[in-house]
Amino acid sequence: MAKKQQAIQAIRGMHDILPEHSPRWHKVEAAIREVVDSYGYQEIRLPIVEKTELFKRSIGEVTDIVEKEMYTFDDRNGDSLTLRPEGTAGCLRACLEHGLLHNQVHRLWYCGPMFRHERPQKGRYRQFYQLGVETYGMAGPDIDAEMILLSERLWKKLGIRNKVELQLNSLGTSEERAAYREKLVDYFKAHLELLDDDSLRRLETNPLRILDSKNPDMKQLIAEAPELMDYLGEDSRNHFHALTATLDDLGVSYVLNSRLVRGLDYYGKTVFEWVTDELGAQGTICAGGRYDGLIEQLGGKTNHAIGFALGMERLLALVEMQADFKVDPMVDAYMIRVGTDAEKVGMRVAEQLRTELSGLKLQVHCGGGSFKSQFKKADKSGAEYAVIIGDEEAARGEVSLKPLRTGEEQQNMPVPELVGALKGWLARRNSRSAS
Ligand code: ATP
Ligand code: MG
Repeated sequence: MAKKQQAIQAIRGMHDILPEHSPRWHKVEAAIREVVDSYGYQEIRLPIVEKTELFKRSIGEVTDIVEKEMYTFDDRNGDSLTLRPEGTAGCLRACLEHGLLHNQVHRLWYCGPMFRHERPQKGRYRQFYQLGVETYGMAGPDIDAEMILLSERLWKKLGIRNKVELQLNSLGTSEERAAYREKLVDYFKAHLELLDDDSLRRLETNPLRILDSKNPDMKQLIAEAPELMDYLGEDSRNHFHALTATLDDLGVSYVLNSRLVRGLDYYGKTVFEWVTDELGAQGTICAGGRYDGLIEQLGGKTNHAIGFALGMERLLALVEMQADFKVDPMVDAYMIRVGTDAEKVGMRVAEQLRTELSGLKLQVHCGGGSFKSQFKKADKSGAEYAVIIGDEEAARGEVSLKPLRTGEEQQNMPVPELVGALKGWLARRNSRSAS
């Protein structure tokens, strides 16, 4: 006899989103779509795999992502490929490849899985989903403000505005950062004994990243380091002040965080993060900034770009914490059919309902069983109504409609009346959810 095979499990840090959880995703995704649409952003769909070179060149060799988090492999031709760890590089690659950056302005978004080989923990996975929003061809600071307004509108729509805080900084130009970098290296070199191993390494390769360290032992040292803001030139300062003035004008609250440097190398001028203290250590739900310089780095002409990425799992975790968070039930109506004729008629009526009532979610009980067992299924489905057909109803061309949640009486009616009743209910529900 064949030996019983061991079941195969998913890869650590890569999660299934089970059917019972997908309505929550749909709800957040629908809110996202509404918000990006309301600002006139277009969706771009991109490959999940890109040439490894793309990420090395864009994200930077000396970043956590490229140094230790990428899923890189040789394909059968021997080309080095990488599962995308983020979406900005691929999005820009696509826009350059298709000539979308010549004298044009674009406002784009995408949503999908990203892959990073990190230590899995709450809010940190190896496959996770990001919403990416990117714009091209606009120097700002007005578009910088729009990005922030768009994200804030999403928090408001999802009812979590009071749980997140906007942190802002300016990274200036690469020349300004270079001058600052020298000062910063001097400062850290004077305190070598306080640096951890990671930071010692970064001191040589990418000292700004030391400011991004999550090691609590280094907090004090980092807090007393020189501030980048003091090294910005006039143009960078003006840009930043114009952005904060716009935010002030529109009543968007923010805090200035001079330690905000972002993990990726390609940012300059405006950078921002939306953070919460309700998710433990993984508190950044959304992060972005201006990356004009990346365009040339990837072979394009001088241009402008700003974008952000939002971690969907973290956003969902925050949204689900609300006491009144509810998702739509799987179905609106559940059809119960008992008897040979009833089964035939029921299938026909169900198709008619689906044709005439757009937006109705109707599940037909399949596989037979008694009234009692079918009722149990109807109840469990979460449906508002049971539509019931026995052979007697079928013979009379009637059905019964039973409200399952209100305690109202079951009613017998001809099929056209059923259509009318469900139509009325759908209209009432839609007007309730719109208000
Ligand atoms: P962190 O500092 O948490 O590692 P990061 O700077 O690496 O974040 P970004 O590359 O800016 O993150 O990605 C944007 C957002 O994507 C993050 O703010 C977070 O919400 C989400 N994110 C990043 N890495 C992960 C991960 N491994 N699992 C789940 N979400 C993630
Ligand atoms: Mg990270």
